[in-house]
Amino acid sequence: MTDTTPAAATVPAAPAEVRQRPGAARPAFAPWDDPAAVPLISYRGVSKHYEDVVAVDKLSLTIYPREFFALLGPSGCGKTTLMRLLAGFETPTEGEIFLNGENLAGVPPHKRPVNMMFQSYALFPHLSVRDNIAFGLRRDGLPGREVKTRVDEMLELVQLTAQAKRKPHQLSGGQRQRVALARSLAKKPRVLLLDEPLGALDKRLRGETQFQLVNLQYSLGITFLVVTHDQDEAFALADRIAIMRDGAIEQVAPPAQLYENPASRYVADFVGDVNLFDGTVKEAGATAVIAGPAGLAFAAPGSGAAPGTAGCIAVRPEKMLMHAPSAAPADTVNRLEGTVEDIAYGGDYTLYRVKTAAGIVEASLFNHRRTTEAAFTWDDPVVLTFDVADAVFLDR
Ligand code: ADP
Ligand code: MG
Repeated sequence: MTDTTPAAATVPAAPAEVRQRPGAARPAFAPWDDPAAVPLISYRGVSKHYEDVVAVDKLSLTIYPREFFALLGPSGCGKTTLMRLLAGFETPTEGEIFLNGENLAGVPPHKRPVNMMFQSYALFPHLSVRDNIAFGLRRDGLPGREVKTRVDEMLELVQLTAQAKRKPHQLSGGQRQRVALARSLAKKPRVLLLDEPLGALDKRLRGETQFQLVNLQYSLGITFLVVTHDQDEAFALADRIAIMRDGAIEQVAPPAQLYENPASRYVADFVGDVNLFDGTVKEAGATAVIAGPAGLAFAAPGSGAAPGTAGCIAVRPEKMLMHAPSAAPADTVNRLEGTVEDIAYGGDYTLYRVKTAAGIVEASLFNHRRTTEAAFTWDDPVVLTFDVADAVFLDR
């Protein structure tokens, strides 16, 4: 048996109507849109200072029961600190954190219904898989028989029953990750905190493990809070993602909302690839038209920004349409003439970098036909266009 066998096979499957790809929007689950929903975790005006470093800055955030929530941001933006504050390993400099309606101030880590799976897994090298999983339960004084039952259940859950007697060094990276997961789930916490849970795994294994984690979380009904700097990971795992920047939250939304409706230039740029055209609004209303660089005009759905507002129009490379000049529409907005400067063939899609009067613009064309002939090559003159509805106006 290879290590990539999904552990999810042993997990009771979700009902068909809710079983979906990880990352797919689940319309049936959106407590954040329900004014009557009761949050499980609330950060209220929380800051954490380390001498002159502001790791977390007056941050407020609400997470609901059963949510798979991701904190995404560059290294040093305060993700791990935010998690450690919830676990009780750090005390806020100001503000309060509530869990299930209880103020956690003064509650020691071991009294919080929260468990943390560390980035390094922190397995005991001299203990077997079984003893690693049992460790916390024994320390809590759970009777031996109950420990055995619980550990057996966890081994089954992560498909490591056959490896129970092995030591960590006799396991693959993926198996070690599952031991760490089983150990942190053994105490049945209300909230599981995962710090870069897939960081130590290679790409293929990461893909498999993502599905396992999502299915496990769904079937156990435990709230997961995951920290990652990897956008693909956050997108694949989470119901909602908070984009963090310098100890604060830039935007909280489901993955597709972040991607298609970024609230700021920072989010548009951090999540996926984007072309940004700077300018000032010259026509407001249902469509915002900006006067862009080199006399070009760009348009996006209006955001209420008044004429004269400085901002940018953001367009994802896959929303760009690329035409030969003879076949190009004669639009006056959202139209760029240029020449192909770079081509990166990616198999499923090809990325073109086109030199235009507005700078280098990226367009990615999906290779939905099985052909090795490229429609465009280096130095070809081309015209790029995009639909108004496929662009976003951002004024911050
Ligand atoms: P992330 O997990 O997003 O990479 P961290 O939460 O680990 O970020 O760190 C946020 C900021 O706080 C960083 O500037 C980091 O250097 C600082 N920091 C974190 N922990 C400590 C600490 N124990 N002492 C001093 N500075 C810290
Ligand atoms: Mg970190």
